[in-house]
Amino acid sequence: MTRALFIIDVQNDFTEGGALGVDGGAAVAAGITRHLAAHRDDYALVVASRDWHSGENDNGGHFATDAAPDFVDTWPPHCVAGTSGAEYHPDLDVAAIDVHIRKGQGVPAYSIFEGTDDAGATIGEVLTRHGITEVDVVGIATDYCVRASALDALEHGQHVRVLTGLVAGVAAASSEAALAELGHAGAEIAGADAAGRSDAAGSADAAGADAAGSPS
Ligand SMILES: [Zn+2]
Repeated sequence: MTRALFIIDVQNDFTEGGALGVDGGAAVAAGITRHLAAHRDDYALVVASRDWHSGENDNGGHFATDAAPDFVDTWPPHCVAGTSGAEYHPDLDVAAIDVHIRKGQGVPAYSIFEGTDDAGATIGEVLTRHGITEVDVVGIATDYCVRASALDALEHGQHVRVLTGLVAGVAAASSEAALAELGHAGAEIAGADAAGRSDAAGSADAAGADAAGSPS
């Protein structure tokens, strides 16, 4: 068993004060950093994704331009490449990240599997190269990019755990539905301390009522 951690889209625009801020996003950034401090050795590979859109166009209809965003298929402009909104949240320990994936250049891209690393490799190729068989998924947003990334990881034959204390969603109902869907699809829906065991105090606050997100 060789495990990777997927840190999905923990970016300024997806956290409080960002263009598409999700309640609990900053807490997720800090929680992931605590998780890594306690459990870095559990992971052969730590991979983080970033939404990385073009500022020149609507990214294939992903950005609402002519009408108000519906927050399902169209969104306020967010995570434009090179802007502060596209950067990782400052509370995320980026030194622990082995592979950086960028996705969404000119197109909608919810799953980490739609992106590539700095050398152009897909995450599927990266996982194969490192012999990864298990993936823990954390990040933002539970009901969109976390959901899509976890479903694709299952599709690629990975054993998938979603650490519910370390995710935040756009809306509570759709986040709960996403976790239920992932459970039915074969993912393990686990608490933040599932990997280990020794940080019960640290995970207790992260596993609270906002774990599945709350309406923004
Ligand atoms: Zn996007």
